[in-house]
Amino acid sequence: MTTRLFPVFADLRDRTVLVAGGGTVARRKVAALLQTGARIVVGAPVLDRELEAWAAEDRIETIMGDFVDAWLDDVWLVIAATDDAAVNRAIAAAAESRRIFANVVDDAELSTIHLPARVERGPLQIAISSGGGAPMLARHIREHLEIQFDDSLGALAELLQKSRARIRAKLADLPARRRFYDRVLAGPIPALLRRGDTTSAERTLQANIDTASPQPVGRVALVGAGPGDPGLLTLRALRLLNEADVILHDRLVSDGVLALARRDAELIEVGKHVGGDHHATQSSIHRLLVEHAKSGKRVVRLKGGDPFVFGRGGEELEVLQSHGIDFEVVPGITAAVACGAYAGIPLTHREHAQSVRFVTAQTKSDDDGIDWHALAQDRQTLAFYMGVSGLERIRDRLVACGRCPNTPVALVENGTRSGQRVVIGTLAELPELAAAHRVSAPAILFVGEVAALATRLHWFGAAPLLGFPASARGATLARAA
Ligand code: SAH
Repeated sequence: MTTRLFPVFADLRDRTVLVAGGGTVARRKVAALLQTGARIVVGAPVLDRELEAWAAEDRIETIMGDFVDAWLDDVWLVIAATDDAAVNRAIAAAAESRRIFANVVDDAELSTIHLPARVERGPLQIAISSGGGAPMLARHIREHLEIQFDDSLGALAELLQKSRARIRAKLADLPARRRFYDRVLAGPIPALLRRGDTTSAERTLQANIDTASPQPVGRVALVGAGPGDPGLLTLRALRLLNEADVILHDRLVSDGVLALARRDAELIEVGKHVGGDHHATQSSIHRLLVEHAKSGKRVVRLKGGDPFVFGRGGEELEVLQSHGIDFEVVPGITAAVACGAYAGIPLTHREHAQSVRFVTAQTKSDDDGIDWHALAQDRQTLAFYMGVSGLERIRDRLVACGRCPNTPVALVENGTRSGQRVVIGTLAELPELAAAHRVSAPAILFVGEVAALATRLHWFGAAPLLGFPASARGATLARAA
Protein backbone atom coordinates (compact mmCIF):
# COMPACT_ATOMS: atom_id res chain seq x y z
CA MET A 1 0.00 0.00 0.00
CA THR A 2 1.34 3.43 -0.87
CA THR A 3 1.14 6.11 1.78
CA ARG A 4 -0.57 9.31 0.88
CA LEU A 5 -0.86 12.82 2.25
CA PHE A 6 -3.79 13.56 4.51
CA PRO A 7 -5.63 16.67 3.33
CA VAL A 8 -6.56 19.11 6.09
CA PHE A 9 -7.59 22.76 6.29
CA ALA A 10 -5.83 24.46 9.17
CA ASP A 11 -7.31 27.15 11.41
CA LEU A 12 -4.37 29.49 11.95
CA ARG A 13 -6.18 32.37 13.65
CA ASP A 14 -3.85 33.93 16.27
CA ARG A 15 -1.38 31.09 15.87
CA THR A 16 2.20 31.90 15.03
CA VAL A 17 3.53 30.97 11.62
CA LEU A 18 7.18 31.54 10.81
CA VAL A 19 8.11 32.34 7.24
CA ALA A 20 11.87 32.13 6.78
CA GLY A 21 13.04 34.17 3.82
CA GLY A 22 12.59 37.72 2.60
CA GLY A 23 12.28 37.42 -1.18
CA THR A 24 9.51 36.93 -3.73
CA VAL A 25 8.74 33.35 -2.78
CA ALA A 26 8.43 34.22 0.90
CA ARG A 27 6.28 37.21 0.01
CA ARG A 28 3.84 35.03 -1.94
CA LYS A 29 3.45 32.66 1.00
CA VAL A 30 2.93 35.59 3.36
CA ALA A 31 0.28 37.04 1.03
CA ALA A 32 -1.70 33.79 1.26
CA LEU A 33 -1.27 33.65 5.03
CA LEU A 34 -2.47 37.23 5.53
CA GLN A 35 -6.07 36.12 4.92
CA THR A 36 -5.96 33.46 7.61
CA GLY A 37 -5.63 35.69 10.68
CA ALA A 38 -2.38 33.97 11.66
CA ARG A 39 0.30 35.81 13.58
CA ILE A 40 2.92 35.95 10.87
CA VAL A 41 6.61 36.27 11.73
CA VAL A 42 9.00 36.76 8.84
CA GLY A 43 12.66 36.03 9.55
CA ALA A 44 15.38 37.04 7.04
CA PRO A 45 18.55 39.13 6.72
CA VAL A 46 16.78 41.47 4.26
CA LEU A 47 13.15 41.97 3.25
CA ASP A 48 11.70 42.90 -0.12
CA ARG A 49 9.73 46.14 -0.40
CA GLU A 50 6.28 44.67 0.02
CA LEU A 51 7.25 42.70 3.10
CA GLU A 52 8.69 45.88 4.54
CA ALA A 53 5.47 47.70 3.83
CA TRP A 54 3.43 44.98 5.58
CA ALA A 55 5.79 45.20 8.55
CA ALA A 56 5.31 48.97 8.66
CA GLU A 57 1.53 48.41 8.70
CA ASP A 58 1.95 45.88 11.53
CA ARG A 59 0.42 43.13 9.44
CA ILE A 60 3.52 41.00 10.00
CA GLU A 61 6.30 40.87 12.56
CA THR A 62 9.91 40.54 11.55
CA ILE A 63 13.16 39.12 12.86
CA MET A 64 16.18 40.40 11.01
CA GLY A 65 19.15 38.08 10.64
CA ASP A 66 20.07 34.46 9.92
CA PHE A 67 17.97 31.54 11.11
CA VAL A 68 18.56 30.28 14.64
CA ASP A 69 16.59 27.59 16.46
CA ALA A 70 14.99 30.11 18.80
CA TRP A 71 12.95 31.44 15.85
CA LEU A 72 10.81 28.35 16.28
CA ASP A 73 9.70 29.19 19.82
CA ASP A 74 5.88 29.43 19.92
CA VAL A 75 5.57 28.48 16.26
CA TRP A 76 2.80 26.13 14.97
CA LEU A 77 3.88 26.01 11.39
CA VAL A 78 7.01 27.02 9.52
CA ILE A 79 7.54 27.80 5.89
CA ALA A 80 11.15 27.65 4.75
CA ALA A 81 11.34 29.94 1.74
CA THR A 82 14.95 31.09 1.70
CA ASP A 83 17.00 30.83 -1.49
CA ASP A 84 19.61 28.72 0.27
CA ALA A 85 18.94 24.97 0.19
CA ALA A 86 21.25 24.32 3.16
CA VAL A 87 19.39 26.85 5.30
CA ASN A 88 16.05 25.38 4.27
CA ARG A 89 17.31 21.93 5.24
CA ALA A 90 18.48 23.22 8.63
CA ILE A 91 15.09 24.78 9.26
CA ALA A 92 13.31 21.56 8.30
CA ALA A 93 15.54 19.56 10.66
CA ALA A 94 15.02 21.98 13.53
CA ALA A 95 11.25 21.93 12.98
CA GLU A 96 11.22 18.15 12.85
CA SER A 97 12.98 17.82 16.18
CA ARG A 98 10.41 20.15 17.75
CA ARG A 99 7.48 18.39 16.03
CA ILE A 100 6.50 21.48 14.12
CA PHE A 101 5.10 20.99 10.66
CA ALA A 102 7.33 22.51 8.01
CA ASN A 103 6.83 23.33 4.38
CA VAL A 104 10.04 23.65 2.44
CA VAL A 105 9.35 25.52 -0.77
CA ASP A 106 9.97 23.38 -3.84
CA ASP A 107 11.14 20.42 -1.79
CA ALA A 108 8.46 17.79 -1.36
CA GLU A 109 10.88 15.39 0.34
CA LEU A 110 11.82 17.77 3.13
CA SER A 111 8.27 19.06 3.64
CA THR A 112 6.13 17.54 6.36
CA ILE A 113 3.25 19.66 5.16
CA HIS A 114 2.42 20.50 1.55
CA LEU A 115 0.68 23.62 0.34
CA PRO A 116 -1.85 22.68 -2.31
CA ALA A 117 -2.77 24.52 -5.47
CA ARG A 118 -6.00 26.35 -4.66
CA VAL A 119 -9.14 27.66 -6.23
CA GLU A 120 -11.01 30.12 -4.01
CA ARG A 121 -14.60 31.24 -4.32
CA GLY A 122 -15.67 33.13 -1.21
CA PRO A 123 -15.60 30.74 1.72
CA LEU A 124 -15.32 27.80 -0.65
CA GLN A 125 -11.82 26.51 -1.29
CA ILE A 126 -10.81 23.70 -3.58
CA ALA A 127 -7.34 22.38 -2.82
CA ILE A 128 -5.40 20.20 -5.24
CA SER A 129 -2.33 18.16 -4.51
CA SER A 130 -0.35 15.59 -6.42
CA GLY A 131 1.54 14.64 -3.29
CA GLY A 132 4.50 16.66 -4.55
CA GLY A 133 4.93 14.24 -7.44
CA ALA A 134 3.41 16.23 -10.29
CA PRO A 135 2.88 19.86 -9.26
CA MET A 136 2.41 20.89 -12.91
CA LEU A 137 -0.54 18.55 -13.20
CA ALA A 138 -2.09 20.02 -10.05
CA ARG A 139 -1.61 23.44 -11.57
CA HIS A 140 -3.18 22.38 -14.83
CA ILE A 141 -6.21 21.06 -12.99
CA ARG A 142 -6.46 24.26 -11.01
CA GLU A 143 -6.61 26.23 -14.25
CA HIS A 144 -9.44 24.00 -15.45
CA LEU A 145 -11.34 24.56 -12.25
CA GLU A 146 -10.74 28.30 -12.40
CA ILE A 147 -12.54 28.36 -15.73
CA GLN A 148 -15.25 25.94 -14.72
CA PHE A 149 -16.34 27.68 -11.54
CA ASP A 150 -17.23 31.32 -11.88
CA ASP A 151 -17.34 33.82 -9.03
CA SER A 152 -21.01 33.17 -8.29
CA LEU A 153 -19.94 30.00 -6.56
CA GLY A 154 -18.57 32.18 -3.77
CA ALA A 155 -21.91 33.96 -3.47
CA LEU A 156 -23.62 30.57 -3.36
CA ALA A 157 -21.33 29.32 -0.59
CA GLU A 158 -21.99 32.51 1.37
CA LEU A 159 -25.74 32.25 0.94
CA LEU A 160 -25.77 28.64 2.12
CA GLN A 161 -23.52 29.49 5.03
CA LYS A 162 -25.93 32.23 6.12
CA SER A 163 -28.92 29.91 5.97
CA ARG A 164 -27.26 26.84 7.38
CA ALA A 165 -28.66 27.13 10.90
CA ARG A 166 -32.20 27.67 9.60
CA ILE A 167 -31.96 24.68 7.27
CA ARG A 168 -30.62 22.51 10.08
CA ALA A 169 -33.44 23.58 12.38
CA LYS A 170 -36.04 22.72 9.76
CA LEU A 171 -34.48 19.43 8.62
CA ALA A 172 -32.84 17.69 11.54
CA ASP A 173 -32.14 14.47 9.73
CA LEU A 174 -29.10 14.21 7.46
CA PRO A 175 -30.59 12.37 4.45
CA ALA A 176 -33.43 14.91 4.40
CA ARG A 177 -30.90 17.74 4.39
CA ARG A 178 -28.92 16.14 1.62
CA ARG A 179 -32.03 15.84 -0.50
CA PHE A 180 -32.87 19.45 0.25
CA TYR A 181 -29.43 20.67 -0.86
CA ASP A 182 -29.50 18.50 -3.97
CA ARG A 183 -32.80 20.04 -4.94
CA VAL A 184 -31.67 23.59 -4.17
CA LEU A 185 -28.45 23.18 -6.14
CA ALA A 186 -30.26 21.67 -9.11
CA GLY A 187 -32.83 24.49 -9.02
CA PRO A 188 -32.70 28.13 -10.19
CA ILE A 189 -30.60 29.58 -7.33
CA PRO A 190 -27.15 29.04 -8.90
CA ALA A 191 -28.34 30.67 -12.14
CA LEU A 192 -29.83 33.64 -10.24
CA LEU A 193 -26.49 34.20 -8.52
CA ARG A 194 -24.63 33.94 -11.81
CA ARG A 195 -26.79 36.80 -13.00
CA GLY A 196 -25.93 38.68 -9.82
CA ASP A 197 -29.52 38.63 -8.56
CA THR A 198 -28.78 37.96 -4.90
CA THR A 199 -32.16 39.21 -3.72
CA SER A 200 -34.14 36.72 -5.79
CA ALA A 201 -31.71 33.95 -4.85
CA GLU A 202 -32.22 34.67 -1.15
CA ARG A 203 -35.97 34.83 -1.57
CA THR A 204 -36.05 31.54 -3.49
CA LEU A 205 -33.92 29.81 -0.89
CA GLN A 206 -36.19 31.05 1.89
CA ALA A 207 -39.24 29.76 0.00
CA ASN A 208 -37.48 26.41 -0.37
CA ILE A 209 -36.80 26.29 3.35
CA ASP A 210 -40.39 27.22 4.18
CA THR A 211 -41.81 24.43 2.06
CA ALA A 212 -39.16 21.81 2.87
CA SER A 213 -40.59 18.66 4.30
CA PRO A 214 -38.62 16.31 6.51
CA GLN A 215 -40.69 13.47 5.06
CA PRO A 216 -38.75 12.15 2.07
CA VAL A 217 -40.62 11.91 -1.21
CA GLY A 218 -39.33 9.02 -3.24
CA ARG A 219 -39.17 9.23 -6.97
CA VAL A 220 -37.93 7.19 -9.86
CA ALA A 221 -35.89 8.30 -12.83
CA LEU A 222 -35.93 5.95 -15.77
CA VAL A 223 -32.52 6.63 -17.26
CA GLY A 224 -30.87 5.53 -20.48
CA ALA A 225 -27.28 4.48 -19.86
CA GLY A 226 -26.32 4.35 -23.54
CA PRO A 227 -24.49 1.44 -25.13
CA GLY A 228 -21.44 1.25 -22.84
CA ASP A 229 -19.00 4.09 -23.41
CA PRO A 230 -19.60 6.38 -20.39
CA GLY A 231 -18.79 9.38 -22.58
CA LEU A 232 -22.15 8.85 -24.27
CA LEU A 233 -24.20 9.50 -21.12
CA THR A 234 -26.29 12.65 -21.05
CA LEU A 235 -25.48 15.34 -18.46
CA ARG A 236 -28.90 14.77 -16.91
CA ALA A 237 -28.17 11.04 -16.53
CA LEU A 238 -24.85 11.84 -14.88
CA ARG A 239 -26.48 14.20 -12.41
CA LEU A 240 -29.14 11.65 -11.46
CA LEU A 241 -26.49 8.96 -11.01
CA ASN A 242 -24.76 11.32 -8.61
CA GLU A 243 -27.88 11.91 -6.57
CA ALA A 244 -29.31 8.40 -6.50
CA ASP A 245 -29.88 6.45 -3.30
CA VAL A 246 -30.63 3.25 -5.18
CA ILE A 247 -29.74 2.22 -8.71
CA LEU A 248 -31.54 -0.70 -10.29
CA HIS A 249 -29.58 -1.60 -13.39
CA ASP A 250 -29.68 -4.17 -16.14
CA ARG A 251 -26.78 -6.48 -16.77
CA LEU A 252 -26.18 -4.68 -20.05
CA VAL A 253 -25.15 -1.45 -18.29
CA SER A 254 -21.36 -1.13 -18.47
CA ASP A 255 -19.01 -0.97 -15.47
CA GLY A 256 -17.69 2.33 -16.80
CA VAL A 257 -21.14 3.87 -16.43
CA LEU A 258 -21.75 2.35 -12.98
CA ALA A 259 -18.41 3.75 -11.80
CA LEU A 260 -19.91 7.23 -12.19
CA ALA A 261 -22.67 6.61 -9.65
CA ARG A 262 -22.69 8.24 -6.22
CA ARG A 263 -20.29 6.27 -4.10
CA ASP A 264 -22.75 5.35 -1.38
CA ALA A 265 -25.61 4.55 -3.74
CA GLU A 266 -26.95 1.02 -3.44
CA LEU A 267 -26.40 -0.82 -6.74
CA ILE A 268 -28.82 -3.62 -7.54
CA GLU A 269 -28.45 -5.70 -10.68
CA VAL A 270 -31.81 -6.81 -11.93
CA GLY A 271 -30.67 -9.00 -14.80
CA LYS A 272 -32.66 -11.90 -16.12
CA HIS A 273 -33.53 -14.59 -13.63
CA VAL A 274 -31.75 -17.88 -14.04
CA GLY A 275 -33.88 -19.95 -16.37
CA GLY A 276 -34.96 -16.82 -18.22
CA ASP A 277 -38.35 -16.40 -16.59
CA HIS A 278 -39.03 -12.93 -17.95
CA HIS A 279 -42.29 -12.57 -16.15
CA ALA A 280 -40.78 -13.26 -12.73
CA THR A 281 -37.88 -10.92 -13.50
CA GLN A 282 -40.12 -8.12 -14.59
CA SER A 283 -42.49 -8.39 -11.65
CA SER A 284 -39.63 -8.46 -9.15
CA ILE A 285 -38.25 -5.29 -10.79
CA HIS A 286 -41.66 -3.66 -10.39
CA ARG A 287 -41.75 -4.67 -6.74
CA LEU A 288 -38.26 -3.26 -6.04
CA LEU A 289 -39.04 0.00 -7.79
CA VAL A 290 -42.20 0.55 -5.80
CA GLU A 291 -40.68 -0.52 -2.47
CA HIS A 292 -37.66 1.76 -2.70
CA ALA A 293 -39.60 4.75 -4.00
CA LYS A 294 -42.21 4.38 -1.27
CA SER A 295 -39.53 4.36 1.40
CA GLY A 296 -38.50 7.83 0.20
CA LYS A 297 -35.45 6.90 -1.85
CA ARG A 298 -34.32 8.53 -5.04
CA VAL A 299 -34.32 5.59 -7.37
CA VAL A 300 -32.60 5.43 -10.72
CA ARG A 301 -33.79 2.68 -13.02
CA LEU A 302 -30.83 2.41 -15.34
CA LYS A 303 -31.24 0.68 -18.67
CA GLY A 304 -28.85 0.00 -21.52
CA GLY A 305 -29.28 2.29 -24.51
CA ASP A 306 -32.56 4.16 -24.43
CA PRO A 307 -35.21 3.11 -21.92
CA PHE A 308 -38.04 3.41 -24.44
CA VAL A 309 -36.39 1.39 -27.19
CA PHE A 310 -36.97 -2.32 -26.53
CA GLY A 311 -36.51 -1.57 -22.86
CA ARG A 312 -39.94 -2.22 -21.36
CA GLY A 313 -39.65 1.26 -19.88
CA GLY A 314 -43.31 1.95 -20.60
CA GLU A 315 -44.50 -1.00 -18.52
CA GLU A 316 -42.45 0.12 -15.53
CA LEU A 317 -43.85 3.63 -15.70
CA GLU A 318 -47.41 2.30 -15.76
CA VAL A 319 -46.73 0.44 -12.54
CA LEU A 320 -45.25 3.56 -10.92
CA GLN A 321 -48.18 5.63 -12.05
CA SER A 322 -50.67 3.17 -10.60
CA HIS A 323 -48.90 3.60 -7.24
CA GLY A 324 -48.89 7.39 -7.49
CA ILE A 325 -45.07 7.54 -7.62
CA ASP A 326 -43.39 10.50 -9.35
CA PHE A 327 -41.14 9.68 -12.26
CA GLU A 328 -39.10 11.19 -15.05
CA VAL A 329 -37.50 9.70 -18.14
CA VAL A 330 -34.01 10.47 -19.42
CA PRO A 331 -33.31 9.27 -22.95
CA GLY A 332 -30.12 7.45 -23.79
CA ILE A 333 -28.30 6.70 -27.00
CA THR A 334 -29.84 3.57 -28.37
CA ALA A 335 -27.67 0.70 -29.62
CA ALA A 336 -28.51 1.19 -33.31
CA VAL A 337 -27.48 4.83 -33.25
CA ALA A 338 -24.40 4.27 -31.10
CA CYS A 339 -23.17 1.14 -32.88
CA GLY A 340 -23.75 2.75 -36.27
CA ALA A 341 -21.62 5.70 -35.22
CA TYR A 342 -18.82 3.65 -33.66
CA ALA A 343 -18.69 1.19 -36.56
CA GLY A 344 -18.69 3.83 -39.30
CA ILE A 345 -22.16 2.87 -40.57
CA PRO A 346 -24.33 5.90 -41.32
CA LEU A 347 -27.89 4.69 -40.80
CA THR A 348 -29.24 6.79 -43.64
CA HIS A 349 -27.44 7.82 -46.78
CA ARG A 350 -28.54 9.85 -49.76
CA GLU A 351 -27.60 7.14 -52.20
CA HIS A 352 -28.49 4.04 -50.23
CA ALA A 353 -31.14 4.45 -47.55
CA GLN A 354 -33.89 6.99 -47.00
CA SER A 355 -35.22 5.38 -43.84
CA VAL A 356 -34.12 3.19 -40.98
CA ARG A 357 -36.09 0.73 -38.91
CA PHE A 358 -35.38 -0.58 -35.42
CA VAL A 359 -36.65 -4.14 -35.21
CA THR A 360 -36.51 -6.80 -32.53
CA ALA A 361 -36.14 -10.29 -33.80
CA GLN A 362 -36.95 -11.99 -30.52
CA THR A 363 -40.22 -13.71 -31.33
CA LYS A 364 -39.66 -17.17 -32.75
CA SER A 365 -43.04 -18.01 -34.24
CA ASP A 366 -43.89 -17.45 -37.89
CA ASP A 367 -46.85 -15.37 -36.87
CA ASP A 368 -44.55 -12.80 -35.26
CA GLY A 369 -46.50 -9.69 -36.25
CA ILE A 370 -43.56 -8.44 -38.29
CA ASP A 371 -44.30 -7.20 -41.81
CA TRP A 372 -41.39 -8.93 -43.54
CA HIS A 373 -42.50 -7.65 -46.94
CA ALA A 374 -42.10 -4.10 -45.72
CA LEU A 375 -38.71 -4.92 -44.20
CA ALA A 376 -37.53 -6.47 -47.44
CA GLN A 377 -38.01 -3.22 -49.38
CA ASP A 378 -34.88 -1.63 -50.84
CA ARG A 379 -33.33 1.68 -49.84
CA GLN A 380 -33.79 1.30 -46.13
CA THR A 381 -31.54 0.25 -43.28
CA LEU A 382 -32.69 -2.37 -40.80
CA ALA A 383 -31.27 -2.53 -37.30
CA PHE A 384 -32.11 -5.81 -35.58
CA TYR A 385 -31.82 -5.85 -31.79
CA MET A 386 -31.42 -9.11 -29.86
CA GLY A 387 -30.85 -10.92 -33.14
CA VAL A 388 -27.81 -13.12 -32.64
CA SER A 389 -29.78 -16.33 -32.24
CA GLY A 390 -32.37 -15.73 -34.95
CA LEU A 391 -30.14 -14.88 -37.89
CA GLU A 392 -31.12 -17.77 -40.10
CA ARG A 393 -34.74 -16.86 -39.86
CA ILE A 394 -34.05 -13.18 -40.54
CA ARG A 395 -32.07 -14.10 -43.65
CA ASP A 396 -34.68 -16.57 -44.93
CA ARG A 397 -37.63 -14.28 -44.46
CA LEU A 398 -35.97 -11.22 -45.97
CA VAL A 399 -34.74 -13.16 -48.99
CA ALA A 400 -38.11 -14.92 -49.39
CA CYS A 401 -39.80 -11.53 -49.38
CA GLY A 402 -37.50 -10.18 -52.05
CA ARG A 403 -34.47 -8.55 -50.44
CA CYS A 404 -31.40 -9.22 -52.57
CA PRO A 405 -29.15 -11.96 -51.08
CA ASN A 406 -26.12 -9.76 -51.85
CA THR A 407 -27.32 -6.99 -49.56
CA PRO A 408 -24.48 -6.06 -47.21
CA VAL A 409 -24.90 -6.87 -43.52
CA ALA A 410 -22.86 -5.90 -40.47
CA LEU A 411 -22.85 -7.40 -37.00
CA VAL A 412 -21.57 -5.06 -34.30
CA GLU A 413 -20.64 -6.86 -31.09
CA ASN A 414 -19.91 -4.93 -27.87
CA GLY A 415 -20.45 -1.66 -29.68
CA THR A 416 -18.64 1.42 -28.25
CA ARG A 417 -16.82 -0.78 -25.73
CA SER A 418 -13.17 -1.70 -25.67
CA GLY A 419 -13.85 -5.12 -27.22
CA GLN A 420 -15.97 -3.84 -30.10
CA ARG A 421 -15.97 -6.13 -33.17
CA VAL A 422 -17.58 -5.47 -36.50
CA VAL A 423 -18.19 -8.34 -38.93
CA ILE A 424 -19.27 -7.56 -42.48
CA GLY A 425 -20.67 -9.82 -45.17
CA THR A 426 -23.78 -10.41 -47.25
CA LEU A 427 -27.31 -11.29 -46.26
CA ALA A 428 -26.98 -14.71 -47.97
CA GLU A 429 -24.16 -15.80 -45.66
CA LEU A 430 -25.43 -14.10 -42.48
CA PRO A 431 -25.82 -17.11 -40.12
CA GLU A 432 -22.54 -18.68 -41.24
CA LEU A 433 -20.78 -15.36 -40.85
CA ALA A 434 -21.90 -15.00 -37.25
CA ALA A 435 -21.01 -18.60 -36.46
CA ALA A 436 -17.56 -18.38 -38.08
CA HIS A 437 -16.69 -15.33 -36.00
CA ARG A 438 -18.51 -16.54 -32.89
CA VAL A 439 -20.46 -13.32 -32.59
CA SER A 440 -22.14 -13.18 -29.20
CA ALA A 441 -24.42 -10.86 -27.25
CA PRO A 442 -24.68 -7.97 -27.01
CA ALA A 443 -24.63 -7.54 -30.74
CA ILE A 444 -26.76 -5.68 -33.21
CA LEU A 445 -27.34 -6.53 -36.84
CA PHE A 446 -27.51 -3.98 -39.62
CA VAL A 447 -28.94 -4.95 -43.01
CA GLY A 448 -28.62 -2.59 -45.95
CA GLU A 449 -26.12 -1.03 -48.35
CA VAL A 450 -24.80 1.29 -45.63
CA ALA A 451 -23.38 -1.72 -43.75
CA ALA A 452 -20.58 -2.01 -46.34
CA LEU A 453 -19.46 1.57 -45.64
CA ALA A 454 -17.87 0.38 -42.39
CA THR A 455 -14.96 -0.99 -44.45
CA ARG A 456 -14.09 2.60 -45.32
CA LEU A 457 -15.47 4.70 -42.47
CA HIS A 458 -14.53 2.62 -39.44
CA TRP A 459 -12.53 4.61 -36.90
CA PHE A 460 -13.05 2.98 -33.50
CA GLY A 461 -11.43 -0.22 -32.24
CA ALA A 462 -10.32 -3.06 -34.51
CA ALA A 463 -10.84 -2.93 -38.28
CA PRO A 464 -13.97 -4.74 -39.51
CA LEU A 465 -13.70 -8.45 -40.23
CA LEU A 466 -14.79 -9.30 -43.76
CA GLY A 467 -16.75 -12.40 -44.69
CA PHE A 468 -15.50 -15.79 -43.55
CA PRO A 469 -11.97 -15.95 -42.23
CA ALA A 470 -9.58 -16.45 -45.13
CA SER A 471 -12.39 -16.76 -47.64
CA ALA A 472 -12.48 -15.26 -51.10
CA ARG A 473 -15.86 -13.76 -50.41
CA GLY A 474 -14.43 -11.25 -47.96
CA ALA A 475 -12.11 -9.97 -50.66
CA THR A 476 -14.97 -9.60 -53.15
CA LEU A 477 -16.91 -7.53 -50.68
CA ALA A 478 -13.94 -5.30 -49.93
CA ARG A 479 -13.59 -4.56 -53.62
CA ALA A 480 -17.29 -3.84 -54.01
CA ALA A 481 -17.24 -1.39 -51.08
N1 SAH B 1 -32.80 -0.30 -24.70
C1 SAH B 1 -31.66 -0.80 -25.43
C2 SAH B 1 -31.95 -2.11 -26.14
C3 SAH B 1 -32.27 -3.23 -25.23
S1 SAH B 1 -32.44 -4.73 -26.09
C4 SAH B 1 -31.18 0.25 -26.41
O1 SAH B 1 -31.85 1.26 -26.63
O2 SAH B 1 -30.07 0.07 -26.95
C5 SAH B 1 -30.81 -5.39 -25.97
C6 SAH B 1 -30.17 -5.44 -27.35
O3 SAH B 1 -29.60 -4.19 -27.66
C7 SAH B 1 -29.02 -6.40 -27.42
O4 SAH B 1 -29.47 -7.71 -27.64
C8 SAH B 1 -28.28 -5.87 -28.63
O5 SAH B 1 -28.92 -6.26 -29.82
C9 SAH B 1 -28.47 -4.38 -28.47
N2 SAH B 1 -27.31 -3.76 -27.78
C10 SAH B 1 -27.32 -3.10 -26.64
N3 SAH B 1 -26.09 -2.65 -26.32
C11 SAH B 1 -25.28 -3.03 -27.31
C12 SAH B 1 -23.89 -2.85 -27.58
N4 SAH B 1 -23.09 -2.21 -26.75
N5 SAH B 1 -23.39 -3.39 -28.73
C13 SAH B 1 -24.20 -4.04 -29.58
N6 SAH B 1 -25.51 -4.24 -29.37
C14 SAH B 1 -26.05 -3.73 -28.25
